[in-house]
Amino acid sequence: MACCSSHSGDSRHSEAPPPGAAWFCPMCPGVFSEHPGACPKCGMELEPLPAAHSSNTERDPLLPRLVLSLVLGIPLMALAMAHMLPGGTTAAWTQSPPARWLQFLLATPVVFFCGWPFFERAARSISSGHLNMFTLVSIGIGAAWAFSTAALLIPSAFPEAHPPLYFEAAAGITALVLLGQVLESRARRRTGGAIKALMQLAPPVARRLTGDSEEEIPIDQVRTGDLLRVRPGDSIPVDGQVKEGHSAVDESLLSGESLPVEKSPARRSPQALAI
Ligand SMILES: [Zn+2]
Repeated sequence: MACCSSHSGDSRHSEAPPPGAAWFCPMCPGVFSEHPGACPKCGMELEPLPAAHSSNTERDPLLPRLVLSLVLGIPLMALAMAHMLPGGTTAAWTQSPPARWLQFLLATPVVFFCGWPFFERAARSISSGHLNMFTLVSIGIGAAWAFSTAALLIPSAFPEAHPPLYFEAAAGITALVLLGQVLESRARRRTGGAIKALMQLAPPVARRLTGDSEEEIPIDQVRTGDLLRVRPGDSIPVDGQVKEGHSAVDESLLSGESLPVEKSPARRSPQALAI
């Protein structure tokens, strides 16, 4: 048997979410929102707060744009790179006006539909003065598309007979940044789910000692200074100090240490560990 004095009443978060906030930026402390969207500072996708998090399987809003960018971008890349392959007839056709216009038709939806969230975030970053990765991405793909479109429409303005096109670069960068965003968002959701599962290991109730009596109370009613009883086989409900008793605690979930750790008075007990 061990008794713990809890200190669960304090909060270590200096930036508490305002009332009604359901989303936050994992990169920028203090950025909260009532709606999903992009962070006004760094442009990253906002994450749901743990309390408002309904499901780990919700769809990524950028996924349909990624799929379309790949469907259009892969043939565009093949078309733009075909002149590097050996074979005269194919190479000649890929430099012809119809092939150059086909590159324009494939790249434009990728840049301006699939990449539209990047332009929105870039515009917000410029208006707020917080330049970020999306400012650079938008300038890069916008410049590549604008240069290539000018080379297509007014080739006489360029010194070369066939000015180079960079449509495949604009579409390729858009698709790769979208892929990175989708992978990062999935990884963060999985990490959040693992932390949530770890927190759910904490028991929902605690046994509070008041004088000689013992009562079972919900975990959120535990206050700083309460004496709690933890029986053998129980999980430890909150962080605290051992006041009385002696036992060994399985801390492997937190430390990875497979051997039970001895606990005795004046030693702190981390939350959610089996005793
Ligand atoms: Zn941010």
